[in-house]
Amino acid sequence: MRKKIIAANWKMNLNYAEAMSLADVLVDSVEDLGHSCVILAAPFVYLRDLVSRIQSHPDFSIAAQNCYSEEKGAYTGEVSAKMLASIGVEHVIIGHSERRTIFKENDLLIAKKISKVLEHGLIPIFCCGEDSTQRNAGHHFITVEQQLSKELFHIDKTQISEFIIAYEPVWAIGTGINAAASEIQEMHFFIRQKIKEAYGIKFSERVSIIYGGSVSPKNVSEIFNCPDVDGGLIGGASLKEDEFLSIIQTMSSLFLKK
Ligand code: PEP
Repeated sequence: MRKKIIAANWKMNLNYAEAMSLADVLVDSVEDLGHSCVILAAPFVYLRDLVSRIQSHPDFSIAAQNCYSEEKGAYTGEVSAKMLASIGVEHVIIGHSERRTIFKENDLLIAKKISKVLEHGLIPIFCCGEDSTQRNAGHHFITVEQQLSKELFHIDKTQISEFIIAYEPVWAIGTGINAAASEIQEMHFFIRQKIKEAYGIKFSERVSIIYGGSVSPKNVSEIFNCPDVDGGLIGGASLKEDEFLSIIQTMSSLFLKK
């Protein structure tokens, strides 16, 4: 059975007190999730405190939203995977579309970050997805295929460890327009096929593929009923305690049936 994941991407939101209080409420309110987990991806400065705050809940873990591709050295302002691992962070989001577009991260940089993250025993949450121009031109499959092959599949079969893939169509992020369940399912199925071609069926059946893009309490059931959807990466709705709790509740009850 694949691990089911409900991940929050807080981005550059919440002050310290708000972030800690939201984490405390979530930890107190969420019951045993069985084979699912909640991952909180927070700004760097909150990570260490969040790691200790979620300690009492076995189904919670903490993610960074980025890291640098080098080990250490003269890279002012950057944070390494090694540093994140040393404070108990378990996951790192790599290749989010905001990093690709605003910070101009390219295939090579993303590929190097993936290698570093895995080298330090962290689990990458690898984001891929097409923008609206690519979708309208019918290039969404080829776009995602290229992202996978250039940025993730350089990881050798013999060194293969765990990773999570987040399919996030750029046009659905923060827009209030989610991809249709049929579009999500066909892309998740396609991604799983590509993983199978690269690493074999056993591994492809084990990889969690999650969806991100305007997930809300209203659309959560339809999206997470799709057979190849193993969870969600939630931005805006993860900042609102009641909405995120409602998403967690719906997802965990759906996942129990899967
Ligand atoms: C995201 O930024 O990863 C995301 C999915 O955001 P939102 O849920 O707000 O669309």
